[in-house]
Amino acid sequence: MDYVESVLEELKAKDPNEPEFHQAATEILRGLRPVVEKHPEYERAALLERFVEPERVVMFRVPWVDDGGKVRVNRGYRVQFNSAIGPYKGGLRFHPSVNLSIIKFLGLEQILKNSLSGLPIGGGKGGADFDPKGKSDGEVMRFCQSFMTELYRHIGQDTDVPAGDIGVGGREIGYLFGQYKRIANEHVGVLTGRGLSYGGSLARTEATGYGLVYMVEEALKCRGDGLKGKTLIVSGSGNVAIYAVEKAQSLGAKVVAMYDSNGYIYDKKGIDLAVIKQIKEVERGRIKEYAERVKTAEYHEGCRGIWAIPCDIALPCATQNEIDGESAKLLVKNGVKLVGEGANMPTTLDGIAVFQRAGVVFLPAKAANAGGVATSALEMAQSSSRLFWPFEEVDAKLKNIMINIYHNMDRAAEEYGVKGDYVAGANIAGFMKVASAMMSQGIV
Ligand code: NDP
Repeated sequence: MDYVESVLEELKAKDPNEPEFHQAATEILRGLRPVVEKHPEYERAALLERFVEPERVVMFRVPWVDDGGKVRVNRGYRVQFNSAIGPYKGGLRFHPSVNLSIIKFLGLEQILKNSLSGLPIGGGKGGADFDPKGKSDGEVMRFCQSFMTELYRHIGQDTDVPAGDIGVGGREIGYLFGQYKRIANEHVGVLTGRGLSYGGSLARTEATGYGLVYMVEEALKCRGDGLKGKTLIVSGSGNVAIYAVEKAQSLGAKVVAMYDSNGYIYDKKGIDLAVIKQIKEVERGRIKEYAERVKTAEYHEGCRGIWAIPCDIALPCATQNEIDGESAKLLVKNGVKLVGEGANMPTTLDGIAVFQRAGVVFLPAKAANAGGVATSALEMAQSSSRLFWPFEEVDAKLKNIMINIYHNMDRAAEEYGVKGDYVAGANIAGFMKVASAMMSQGIV
């Protein structure tokens, strides 16, 4: 058994109940095989063993009182995975499915994503098994305050800077920041994704979706093509999905389908994003309502059917493991040419293999959705310098970062003999900087 497989084996034996973490570690470590073969000193320094072991894991009780006066208890997490190249950085996810395995998979991915962004940020992730859906603003506020009452002692603008993720948008960040400021008595950039009136950055809301589309456009441009006239499917209808659709439409693409966790809409004339924004951002409603308001649209219960719709480009932007091997085969059969991952790990290992065998251009999450965290790092820079940059300046920096990431992973894949394999390319390009920093800092 080689070094990579023995590390994976040990990891699975140590934490057998963490399937999502195993999946992410398997994808990453196997992609790094050419690197560890070229650098035998990494094995002597147990670099991979240290890389997959978080520096610190915090798990905590989050008690709060609902509107009916009933005491509720959730579980909070913060995984401070790797600080070799900068303070821990990564979002908070509030969703009933959250557990340690999911937070560890997200944290591991985050290390490489943050490194790829070219900015000085380490990797972390956190969250809680709390579902903000159906809760009143007061309940969400009390939950966020309780969550931060424990978390505040573990974070700091130079230590660990959380942000949003699924279920954590502007409202939640506001409540979390308010509580941090109240306890720590400092108004600093300890969270990103803040509102514009209290230290946020312009273009942060749009950044992950826009960044994804900037990378897609660059990948197409390098193949003598572009988004104009292409048919897209974008799964999800949250922050990432909405702004991916906005940018894709502005570049001339037609988006025909989107979903939420109940079902999908298909609008062959092209989705009217203003209606989606009204339902999702203003009313916090269900996507089903789109078909009630737009005559050309159909609504279907369940999500999987979306992948049977013919398209040129698929952008999964909802959650992990949305596209399995079967869905990937359907997409390929119907002519998909490019898949760009807006969500984290939305494609299973089987699904990735199907796309790669079929020659589909596959842009993996840690590269394709790095625009969000990159812009968070730009928010940190603005906070530290007490400056506020115009939208165009942040957006131009974001675009530049996404184009650079694309070329870095493309070059890394070619250099290590796996040209066009962007899964390996992104893992290698992200890992090299972290590995170099870890090797320089001794056995820590
Ligand atoms: P949001 O909470 O804004 O939106 C999530 C969307 O995905 C919603 O439409 C939600 O539907 C849907 N969804 C969630 N779980 C499921 C499920 N099990 N099946 C089907 N649909 C589901 O989250 P974001 O847009 O912020 O995040 C989406 C993805 O992008 C996540 O993987 C996240 O980690 C990743 N990401 C986000 C970044 C950001 O800046 N926000 C940065 C980088 C990555 P419903 O409302 O019904 O739950």
